[in-house]
Amino acid sequence: MMENKEELARIITAENGKPLKEAQGEIVYSASFLEWFAEEARRIYGDVIPASAKDRRVLVLKQPVGVAAIITPWNFPSAMITRKVGAALAAGCTVVVKPAEDTPLSALALGELANQAGIPAGVYNVVPCSRQQTAAVGEVLCTDPLVSKISFTGSTATGKILLKHAAGTVKRVSMELGGHAPFIVFDSANVDRAVAGALASKYRNSGQTCVCTNRFLVQKGIHDEFVEKFAKAIEKELHVGNGFDAKTTQGPLINEKAVEKVEKHIKDAVSQGASIVTGGKRHSFGKNFFEPTLLSNVTTKMLCTQEETFGPLAPVIKFETEAEAVAIANAANVGLAGYFYSQDPAQIWRVAEQLEVGMVGVNEGIISSVECPFGGVKESGLGREGSKYGIDEYLEIKYVCFGGL
Ligand code: ADP
Repeated sequence: MMENKEELARIITAENGKPLKEAQGEIVYSASFLEWFAEEARRIYGDVIPASAKDRRVLVLKQPVGVAAIITPWNFPSAMITRKVGAALAAGCTVVVKPAEDTPLSALALGELANQAGIPAGVYNVVPCSRQQTAAVGEVLCTDPLVSKISFTGSTATGKILLKHAAGTVKRVSMELGGHAPFIVFDSANVDRAVAGALASKYRNSGQTCVCTNRFLVQKGIHDEFVEKFAKAIEKELHVGNGFDAKTTQGPLINEKAVEKVEKHIKDAVSQGASIVTGGKRHSFGKNFFEPTLLSNVTTKMLCTQEETFGPLAPVIKFETEAEAVAIANAANVGLAGYFYSQDPAQIWRVAEQLEVGMVGVNEGIISSVECPFGGVKESGLGREGSKYGIDEYLEIKYVCFGGL
């Protein structure tokens, strides 16, 4: 029995290692989707359209798409489920959730809460499975004709597999896939605010969120001051350790593979001339813990600026002009979040409109919130979650023509 939100937060820290304070934040975020969509359920309005013929009346009804298969990742083991399930249930759908193999407990805990809340049996269903079974279970969920909708959050590579499965029966799909977020600091920026935003955007969940900054682009005039202050902030404010210790801000990475990827990106960058400003290696605390790392002298030829690291690595590229920064930012085949710091209003409008991403933080490093549409462009996905738009992903529009009146 879940007594309170504290217990749910402890389950998250136990299953993915994130600091308890972050896990508590996730529980609030997770609950916010259920509250939001419970309210949105009352606003699924239809429409009456003026007909072109006198003897007709035209209505638009919104109906649930049907059973939704929901496949979620380990980095937000509770919130990534409620963001989808809240919208699905509000629309009138039933769901089958396949949680990530590393974090099945939060999904099961939500099942217990669903029972306690009186949600009828068979409405919220959970199918945990091992890594070995994942592909087979995923295929069944995404090809079964009884399933009408797939909502997935995870890697772009897996998203493409699921899109192929969906094609066979033309299912509705929502995909929240990988990002490669740029964080641009222009000469006009308030450097202290930029450093605070950088710290939050990069090192939250030890760099393991799809909207975490993956590459910093810093203009020539402000570059040295930014790098120096960013390094100081990392060393002073970040504490690697056990997620249950109150002081800890940085838990472990999810597994050995994740650590190896960070190491590979650092090694590649250093071999091509990047400098380690701080961090750079596994943390003495233990196996999957990694030092928060800052690299300077980074170029676009390096692996860490070409693919998502998903770890505590901040590479800094120096640039000269706005056009150059926007071109580097948009060179990616994905476009989820993007951030920039500037105090020039004309530049703010120009860059916000030019960035090829689904979400832009202007002078902000943390932008996810229940009332705002979350989602990406390019290979970062399809559809939007949360906000007034999120429920549409689970609704069909039916046009009804009353004739012969
Ligand atoms: P990550 O690299 O973050 O683990 P994945 O895309 O591998 O990203 O995992 C996200 C979710 O997708 C998890 O629930 C995982 O079990 C699931 N998954 C991975 N591969 C497949 C697959 N072939 N079919 C269905 N689900 C999959």
